[in-house]
Amino acid sequence: MNPHEVKQCFPIMNVPIYGKRLVYLDNAATAQKPVQVIEALEAFYRMANANVHRGVHYLGAKATDMYEAAREKVRAFIRASEAAEIVFTRGTTSALNLIASGYGRLVLCEGDEIVISLAEHHSNLIPWEQAAKAAGATLKFIPLQEDGTITPEAVRSVVTPRTKIAALHHISNVLGDVVPLREIAGIVHAHGGVLVVDGAQGAPHSPVDVGQMDCDFYVFSGHKMCGPTGIGVLYGKRPLLEQLVPVEYGGEMVESVDAEWASWKELPYRLEAGTPLIAGAIGLGAAIDFLAQIGMEKIERHDRRLVGYALERLQELKECKVLGPLRHRTSILTFQLGEIHPHDLATVLDAEGIAIRAGYHCAQPLAKWFGQAATARASLYLYNTEEDVDALILGLKKAQDLFRRNK
Ligand code: PMP
Repeated sequence: MNPHEVKQCFPIMNVPIYGKRLVYLDNAATAQKPVQVIEALEAFYRMANANVHRGVHYLGAKATDMYEAAREKVRAFIRASEAAEIVFTRGTTSALNLIASGYGRLVLCEGDEIVISLAEHHSNLIPWEQAAKAAGATLKFIPLQEDGTITPEAVRSVVTPRTKIAALHHISNVLGDVVPLREIAGIVHAHGGVLVVDGAQGAPHSPVDVGQMDCDFYVFSGHKMCGPTGIGVLYGKRPLLEQLVPVEYGGEMVESVDAEWASWKELPYRLEAGTPLIAGAIGLGAAIDFLAQIGMEKIERHDRRLVGYALERLQELKECKVLGPLRHRTSILTFQLGEIHPHDLATVLDAEGIAIRAGYHCAQPLAKWFGQAATARASLYLYNTEEDVDALILGLKKAQDLFRRNK
């Protein structure tokens, strides 16, 4: 895989930023879109636009075929056993809320436990806080290692027969560590619980095989893996999806409706009320084709190699403190550079055409746990090159000089 060639597929990379080359290092927030995805969206609206699952006309059938073909692409991408296990949502956040509300509130009773960690994105924490509150259940937090990571042993230390649900990230959006989910799934299942995986950073950066991982739910967002915004995926094992109570009702999801009752369609339509984001799903399908053609193994190798290079180069900078493990991580580097406020750092870099993120990265409890205020985050993806990392280091050195002079 040649990232320079990959970059050519992304029209935005040619947009000058203050007259400079764009160095886009905010991929954990959202990834850029290749021409293949942009064209798929345009082609749908130009040549196939109609609503799905209702019209008997030509365009209605074409749109439905394209939408269902996208579902099949998602199924193959995460190796689910059937397309009915793939529910389209607005993104990771809406998928996690659907599980917490539609499944969590169904199975949780007073005194039950939800096992979670302080390293979760707010989207994989707040829905569980709310579900626990509604049911009188308790949240149990997995003790984190010194570098913020999660081990199977730590999970074992908190899971009990009262654990109905464990909800964990696949790859942390702050630390870039990869959670050993397969082993964790075994521990959770041995106690009768189900494992919900937040794959928002996992699906874009590593091959996913939900059968091998043996998770019960796996969710992710299209926009972080080169697809459009507003589309995401909820995968669930069929028996669990069958139990999941819809949280939205209306058109598309009903089989039969009377004045005082209604019955629901089969999976996955039961969980997709209203007109779905048809173009978004088709765009996600195009993104999956794009990634699959390159190969997720190659993308994973590229991300790991480049993050290793970036870590090495960051160590050249005095006073640079990187959060998280120094090895076995991927794509994400969260750091503090001396006493420079991360927002100031991001502003200096922005003037150089370099986009990074500053703040809490939607993980405030983790920042607190590290005793850290806001941090800077550079996150890499398949089109990033060593030159991009070099530009980042140069920009950081420039910021250090600037703030040293102004002291
Ligand atoms: N979980 C993780 C680990 C994330 O990185 C993100 C996005 N930053 C989310 C959940 C939420 O994703 P979305 O905003 O697309 O719903």
